[in-house]
Amino acid sequence: MQHATELRGRVAVVTGASSGIGRATAIALAAAGAQVVINHRAGGDSQGRAAAVAEAIQRQGGTAVTAAADIAKEAEVDHLFAQALQHYGRLDILVNNAGIEHASPIADMTLADWQRVIDVNLTGHFLCARAAARVFQSQPPDPARQGVALGNILFISSVHEVIPWAFQVNYAASKGGVSMLMKSLAQELAPARIRVNSIAPGAIRTAINQPAWDTPESLAKLLKLIPYGRIGEPDDVARAAVWLASDASDYVTGTTLFVDGGMTLYPE
Ligand code: NAD
Repeated sequence: MQHATELRGRVAVVTGASSGIGRATAIALAAAGAQVVINHRAGGDSQGRAAAVAEAIQRQGGTAVTAAADIAKEAEVDHLFAQALQHYGRLDILVNNAGIEHASPIADMTLADWQRVIDVNLTGHFLCARAAARVFQSQPPDPARQGVALGNILFISSVHEVIPWAFQVNYAASKGGVSMLMKSLAQELAPARIRVNSIAPGAIRTAINQPAWDTPESLAKLLKLIPYGRIGEPDDVARAAVWLASDASDYVTGTTLFVDGGMTLYPE
């Protein structure tokens, strides 16, 4: 019998996988046997970093390809999923991970500041979820996997789907939106045996929130918010992602798993 977290034969797209949580999740899914598409933004150093993630996976005996796409752009998202199908012939798992922040007091927040965060963190997650759902609903079921989910969508949201965030109202609104997007999709797609869940990370040591942890003073301030007494690492989220992506969690849909060291236990 296959181990329940075994992902051999499964194909996964991970968005924003050239760094941080996406990178760790792509590596962990591949280590569990999945064939992975490492999505990254075009330009900058993302291409090189994505290639390094693919090489790391290949060195450990796994399978991965890279694919550039801005998840906020409909045509690029559709092309990303077409590439995944062209390369691997099927799709089983989407990890909707890519995200950005743009902090600003409300009075100074331009429409563009608001829109860009919503475009990536909410609309981009919708576009990828829609593309994945279309594939899941049109491809033949894997005959080796009777009686379990036919597709799996995982959102990387944030504790800020429930904790308000002053000066980051665009980000908090986007993550609150992802919460309802996830639940509504889970309800809609459960009869098609497609599971949809979120992971809400707390403070994880990645580039997106570097100012919050990269000096002893900022780290000490941050640790006061975390009952478990340490900052999270990308692998903490990646392990939860492997579980939610696998048949070990087959009866779980429409839920948010908080991977936050207890951060949401403290009142604001
Ligand atoms: P990160 O900055 O390392 O990763 C974000 C990734 O998304 C980057 O690789 C970036 O290039 C990519 N990206 C951004 N816009 C994109 C676009 N339009 N198209 C494709 N890719 C794009 O930071 P991270 O912490 O790994 O963030 C991953 C996710 O986790 C985000 O959704 C973030 O909101 C969420 N999150 C992070 C934390 C944390 O403490 N690090 C906490 C809660 C939630």
